[in-house]
Amino acid sequence: MIKKSVQDALNDQITKEFYSSYLYLSMSAYFHSLNLNGFAQWMRIQAEEENAHAMKFFDYLVDRGGEVKLGALEAPPDKWNSPLEAFEAALEHERYITDSVNKLAELAIREKDFATNNLAQFFVDEQVEEESSVEDIVQRMKFIEDFKPGLIMLDAELAQRKPTSSEPTK
Ligand code: MG
Repeated sequence: MIKKSVQDALNDQITKEFYSSYLYLSMSAYFHSLNLNGFAQWMRIQAEEENAHAMKFFDYLVDRGGEVKLGALEAPPDKWNSPLEAFEAALEHERYITDSVNKLAELAIREKDFATNNLAQFFVDEQVEEESSVEDIVQRMKFIEDFKPGLIMLDAELAQRKPTSSEPTK
């Protein structure tokens, strides 16, 4: 039997991952509005990955015989002052998610729920990747500053992103 405290934390995490998906989808729309379609494509794939994260937690909770309770999703922002500001917001959000995953691991260890700790550790590793890839783009955008050709080149590069087979599946 999964403990109520762990079940609650997993349900919270499902909602946070779906919110992440919602946030990045909103960023994708923002980038389309600027005709930065490569940035938009990158964010769309990011949104799909967040959806897969939510489903990994969902499937796990079902497998453990827990009760899934989906929380309300807030409307994400739909405007940022610049492409850089949107990516900085994404980085800040990923740091918040990392904190949440760390707290889940801490709770699982405290409750001696080793299966949930294993799942949390998967996401501890995943968050290193998430923060690193967003931070890399933030740094490059800072380097580019207002140099439009640089932004267009980065846009073309980000357009190459394809959904990866390393995405978590059940
Ligand atoms: Mg995630």
